[in-house]
Amino acid sequence: RFTSVWRRYRSVPIVYRIGAAFVLGAIVGLAVGPAATELQPLGDLFIRLLEMVIVPIIVFTLLMATRELSPKNLGKIGGQVTVLYLITTAIAIGIGLAVSNLINPGAGMVIEETSVETEQTPSIVDQLFAIVPANPMTALAEGNILSIIFFTLIFGLGMTIVREEVEPDSAVRNGIETIFDVVDAGAEVMFKIVWGVMEFGVLGVFALMAALFGEIGLAVIEAYLMLSLTLVLAVGIQITLVYLLVIVRGAVGESPLDFIRGTKEALITALSIRSSTATLPVTMSNADENLRIKERVYGFSLPLGATVNMDGTSMYLGIVAIFAANIAGVSLTLVEQVTILLTALLASIGTAGVPSASLVMMSAVLTQAGLPLEVIGMIAGIDPLLDRLRTMNNIAGDLAVTTVVAKWNDAIDLTAGVWADGASGLR
Ligand code: ASP
Repeated sequence: RFTSVWRRYRSVPIVYRIGAAFVLGAIVGLAVGPAATELQPLGDLFIRLLEMVIVPIIVFTLLMATRELSPKNLGKIGGQVTVLYLITTAIAIGIGLAVSNLINPGAGMVIEETSVETEQTPSIVDQLFAIVPANPMTALAEGNILSIIFFTLIFGLGMTIVREEVEPDSAVRNGIETIFDVVDAGAEVMFKIVWGVMEFGVLGVFALMAALFGEIGLAVIEAYLMLSLTLVLAVGIQITLVYLLVIVRGAVGESPLDFIRGTKEALITALSIRSSTATLPVTMSNADENLRIKERVYGFSLPLGATVNMDGTSMYLGIVAIFAANIAGVSLTLVEQVTILLTALLASIGTAGVPSASLVMMSAVLTQAGLPLEVIGMIAGIDPLLDRLRTMNNIAGDLAVTTVVAKWNDAIDLTAGVWADGASGLR
């Protein structure tokens, strides 16, 4: 009896179960009120389980990537990914600013006194310098993603070079092939674990949503309706226009619906847990299993994107700048808005892929533009909601760019996975 109910439950695709948990959690949270925050630990456990798989997945898939990658190809793919990440981020901020200028969120509101910590936009030299790990083991232990990418790529390329230099049947050569075989198996196992974690995620997402709505209720949402609306619109435009129409339909030549089907688990996870980094295992598994992209592109582009490519975040930084200007009663000139665009671009690169990280970077953008920092305190209450949209947009951007770069480099199988005609049986 119980096993048949369980089987029937398991036969519903995971993304629908998580979606239902999302809505149900919100309803329960609103009904129960602050007591629902007691459920938070269950949600935190879900996030911790995802975090647990991040470092091994990155290391395994990146090593797999180097197995098929020459330094020349790596440079080409890396260049394309980086340029597209920058362009899409700049477009996102542009859309955010345009929509804000239309809706004018914050007009007529008054600033409340609060105190906030300030942060400087990190200098490019500092950011680049930090990528080189003084000790690779420390980078692994601390989960410093950019440093892990840097060292793993170097190690992997080192293996491919040595492999060419030694005798065909030497112990070293065999050892290197063994390492590659081992990480190949390791990646496979890690993806299996991700799906197990997602099963628990149904409960985790329910708990997260109940705790959130139990705490903030509907009043907070009402107070910042215009700001929320601006972000919803801007995210909607960025995803539909830039990712689905221009990139997927235009550049990849595939159906936007297939893309959504192939990325839905990553998108809903980002929406649920508000962290690009913690979503990374799901993002990578979607790229691998559904979008059928090769490790040599996504193994590199997705960890990088989760850390530096934040279209939703950068867009929100621009929107809040306009919001702050409206509250302060100043109107920004075009030149000032372009300056905000550049600061928001840099700030978003420096933003960590963790919940509400942009609240910290916001002080850099506002200070630079001479706008009141108190705004950060005002919007902190609603951030747990808006952060979801930003994070989902961040992830969608990483996946869209990864898909088109994979297509350009012949690293995607457009006849399989979600792209296949009448694809079914997907989780
Ligand atoms: N939560 C976002 C992310 O992880 C960062 C932010 O905008 O606060 O992508």
